[in-house]
Amino acid sequence: MTELNQQTTYDDNNIFAKMLDGDIPYHKVYEDDKTLAFMDIMPQAEGHVLVIPKQKAVDLADLEPEYAAAVLMTSKKVMQAQRQVFEREGVIQMQLNGSQAGQTVFHYHVHLIPSSIHELGRHAVTQADNNDLADIAQKLAAVINA
Ligand code: AMP
Repeated sequence: MTELNQQTTYDDNNIFAKMLDGDIPYHKVYEDDKTLAFMDIMPQAEGHVLVIPKQKAVDLADLEPEYAAAVLMTSKKVMQAQRQVFEREGVIQMQLNGSQAGQTVFHYHVHLIPSSIHELGRHAVTQADNNDLADIAQKLAAVINA
């Protein structure tokens, strides 16, 4: 039997909503009026960043055009910073829609991962060191804000 996406309505208590509300800490890379970028705590490669819209969207189906554009523009900023900080061209842009696709947090987000499809680590498994994440976030933010 086909597994259906269990999460089709937006849950105000999802972990990214709590970040946007300032209720839980995160390592910020960039923020503007429509988006927030922060370090993934279980990175699939060093420098794994998530970009989220400040809109209550579960997945791509819900994303409003102005937020889609804003997420893409922030993603470009982050990717350019990753290329500079990690001195590599290859950055994976990934985005999962629905639990059947492996989505685990039901607030739309883009993954930006300085890696190769042939080397990508496992999804949301190993927690990174907090100090390392803080250090990388600071380096990426410095490039974006330069
Ligand atoms: P997805 O499975 O596409 O919904 O991705 C969710 C991502 O959120 C995974 O890569 C997790 O490692 C990441 N994640 C979960 N909780 C947190 C958190 N508190 N801070 C940062 N990233 C998180």
